[in-house]
Amino acid sequence: MSRIEMSTPLVEMDGDEMTRILWQMIKDELLMPYIDLKTEYYDLGLEHRNETNDQVTIDSANATAKYGVAVKCATITPNAARMTEYNLKEMWKSPNGTIRAALDGTVFRSPIVVKGIEPCVKNWKQPITLARHAYGDVYKNVEIKVPGAGKAELVFTAEDGTEIRETIHNFTGGGVIQGMHNTDKSITSFAKACFNYALATRQDLWFATKDTISKKYDHDFKDIFQDMFEKEYEDRFKKAGITYFYTLIDDAVARVMKAEGGFIWACKNYDGDVMSDMVSSAFGSLAMMTSVLVSPTGVFEYEAAHGTVQRHYYKHLKGEETSTNSVATIFAWTGALRKRGELDKNTALCDFADKLEKATIQTIEEGKMTKDLALITSLQNVTTLNSHDFIKAIRATYETLILHVDHESC
Ligand code: NAP
Ligand code: MG
Repeated sequence: MSRIEMSTPLVEMDGDEMTRILWQMIKDELLMPYIDLKTEYYDLGLEHRNETNDQVTIDSANATAKYGVAVKCATITPNAARMTEYNLKEMWKSPNGTIRAALDGTVFRSPIVVKGIEPCVKNWKQPITLARHAYGDVYKNVEIKVPGAGKAELVFTAEDGTEIRETIHNFTGGGVIQGMHNTDKSITSFAKACFNYALATRQDLWFATKDTISKKYDHDFKDIFQDMFEKEYEDRFKKAGITYFYTLIDDAVARVMKAEGGFIWACKNYDGDVMSDMVSSAFGSLAMMTSVLVSPTGVFEYEAAHGTVQRHYYKHLKGEETSTNSVATIFAWTGALRKRGELDKNTALCDFADKLEKATIQTIEEGKMTKDLALITSLQNVTTLNSHDFIKAIRATYETLILHVDHESC
């Protein structure tokens, strides 16, 4: 059988530890036998980031902007322990942060739903995709621990020297103050990415803030979304048969719990941080969660939502068997290949991505899975496979799917 050709390369960002091991297995077993894989390769493994003074991360982000689609392996964000472990020149920044800043992107996370791994919320039938604004608010705040009585003020000084001044509080004793900000530019990019992603995936978009209490700050978010929707997206949403729905954050939380899923929930930075952990764990497992960074200019970077699975890697280094779940990393590849296929009008590539996802889900639903899923599944008689055997089982399922199709078309 001839392999599928690609006309434009994917930007491939390799990573660290156990996910780097899975990365190679996925390429060897599931991709290269079927696709004449064309990638522009960037090694974002920590050693190479250190050698290049992190230039490789910047280069990979620029290549993503150039080609439009990237697939990324999980990477280590160094901390003090990693400085010693890898003998680093500097505590390099999080690659995800660098790439997100370069592409001005929004992160969308969706669970991969399979029979036998049931969400804790029994009415959730379809995935809920969480879109988290990734700039500002409490993550870029300034705080003061107030030592005693005194007056706290909020002051803005314009470039021409004029001032806007508000009293925050007249303290009679100790307390705390927090100053935060966001920019219209960043909120606008966030809104654009959400509307475009809703159109691209044909899902309703929900957005919620606390604008009844925060009449200027949160209201700014609400107004920017509403204004953009009316000016640029209302007609396109109507044509696509989808809706944009704004409500208060507490109302949104209540509705999400009662909904069936199948929509995108756009959240401010803090809400997104907290809610994405709640939604992902309620759907079953972090290893079954995909993540895509979408820029307002329509650039896509796909990855798994989990990290490098360090504990499993140390076992692997000791020669012990691991049972690490590769599903989210496989779906990062299929997401990127499908998007590449859509942009290049390469239907064979899109079909391949669809079938590999189907084979992955079918393998689990037939009871073959890694340990993390075996521990939580409602299926009976499951076989727990090691990291490599699970990938080989998916390949076997994929082979039966393509044989079946060939047979049908005869
Ligand atoms: P992690 O790699 O997500 O793993 C945390 C734990 O979750 C694992 O020890 C494992 O539990 C379970 N787990 C996660 N993914 C799994 C999978 N695919 N299959 C089976 N079990 C899985 O998070 P971490 O240990 O906190 O972080 C490790 C490194 O990853 C850090 O250096 C961090 O900087 C980096 N990180 C990178 C990204 C990214 O690149 N996007 C995101 C997060 C973290 P058990 O040990 O109980 O089996
Ligand atoms: Mg969190």
